[in-house]
Amino acid sequence: MSAENVETLFINGQWVAASNQATRTIYCPADGSEVGVVSEATTEDTERAIAAARAAFESGVWADKPAAERGDFLLAVAASIRERKDEFARAEALDTGKRLVEAEGDMEDIISAFRHFGKIADHYPGRLVDAGDPTVVSRVVHEPIGVVGMITPWNFPLLQASWKIAPAIATGNSFVIKPAELTPHTTMLIVDVMDKLGLPAGVANVVLGDGGTVGAPLSTHKDIDLVSFTGGLITGRKIAESAAHTVKDVALELGGKNPNVIFADADFEAALDNALNAGFLDSGLVCSAGTRLIVQDTIAEQFVDELVRRAANIVMGGPFDDKAETGPLVSAEHRDKVTDYVNRGVEAGARLRTGGNWGGPEHENGYFYAPTVLDQCTSDNPAVVEEGFGPVITVETFSTEDEAIAIANDTDYGLAGAVWSSDTGVTNRVSRKLRHGTIWVNDYHPYLPQAEWGGFKQSGIGRELGITGMEEYTVSKHIYENTEPAVSGWFPQK
Ligand code: NAD
Repeated sequence: MSAENVETLFINGQWVAASNQATRTIYCPADGSEVGVVSEATTEDTERAIAAARAAFESGVWADKPAAERGDFLLAVAASIRERKDEFARAEALDTGKRLVEAEGDMEDIISAFRHFGKIADHYPGRLVDAGDPTVVSRVVHEPIGVVGMITPWNFPLLQASWKIAPAIATGNSFVIKPAELTPHTTMLIVDVMDKLGLPAGVANVVLGDGGTVGAPLSTHKDIDLVSFTGGLITGRKIAESAAHTVKDVALELGGKNPNVIFADADFEAALDNALNAGFLDSGLVCSAGTRLIVQDTIAEQFVDELVRRAANIVMGGPFDDKAETGPLVSAEHRDKVTDYVNRGVEAGARLRTGGNWGGPEHENGYFYAPTVLDQCTSDNPAVVEEGFGPVITVETFSTEDEAIAIANDTDYGLAGAVWSSDTGVTNRVSRKLRHGTIWVNDYHPYLPQAEWGGFKQSGIGRELGITGMEEYTVSKHIYENTEPAVSGWFPQK
């Protein structure tokens, strides 16, 4: 498809068409309706965006601004998103197919991220170091890392982008962002907000399109100083490999296979209700979804029977369907992957208790997959080992605390997990032993922008949010200043 008036790439402060005029049509995954037509960039377009970001950075037009001013800018971005919240939420719901209420919740989280980094932008001045000599001033300063390449996924398109854009802008960087090809609209909107608020040309740039063509230069180009990626493990590995050639910094937020450990003495109703949330919120399309239910054997039968009963009653529907309780997957290809994943789990011995299908005929225009529970799972079952990235909960059982910890840590991933018990001794011990980046105790899913987010093991490298999430976008420099220069006398003065 080609259309000359589609200008949705933002390069050097201008909305422009792809250099070959190519476009892509975006469809809503809930019903296949057309959402919009956007530019499909070329590799050369990404290179132009990188050049614009580099020039803006080198000019100091943003990097040299006082940190407090950059913080104020982020607070103004947060206020603008709030003013345009309905437009943002609607755009996110249409691109992803998620329910409008879920997209509205995402917008609150996005506003919080911009507010958080806006407030701490000038709280990170560096430090003085005692050189042991009163004539020396030794200080470590934090400088912007330079030009950041950002690559984001389709499940929380703007939320994941905001965790990168806000700290990058707070610390004075320029960036080029490539959202997932299926969900571009809210990334375009946020750049529109920043442009209207007066961000200098070249500081923020957006390229749209395919990962291999448009995203790849962000991990290979020598003028990118940091590539910050959120997405799947396989893509993350590729990005880390290609970034190695120019020895650039890499931040990776990858998948998870997150354990939700329920002890018999937990509050049964709260644990059960939250086990549903953990696995099926946002159709399970959450990197930290509690997809591995690990439940104590003495309550397992009763707990799982009730989980299955409630899961079977969850109503699927599109963004604006008031009766819907969960939405679709993102594409036919993704639904095929989830279908194959569940089938392989069953072939390997898991028992399908509910779901495992695409819903009734009323769902045939969208990419729905019914909430699914697989029990009688062994730890080597592919449904337990692999991230299925859909509304699928696998069930394993344990009898002792040590066994629960061993099962919960028996994964190559390490993003998040939860422990449920009324015994604080148990929750303290287990939460300290779990090798995952976020642990919830008697809860599931809340996170705070003030607290670090990220994975152990193959769930990623680095942290987003918190103070560390800002450090990722800076580089430290030691400045050693001799205030009373003198002859050293090391070599003879002849
Ligand atoms: P994906 O890896 O397929 O794609 C992510 C992004 O990478 C997209 O923009 C894609 O176009 C781009 N891409 C693909 N190939 C590329 C390449 N060779 N070079 C550069 N860019 C490339 O992931 P997805 O399917 O969009 O998202 C789902 C995954 O994201 C899941 O695994 C989920 O767990 C993970 N995720 C993690 C977090 C977290 O915070 N850890 C948050 C959200 C999603």
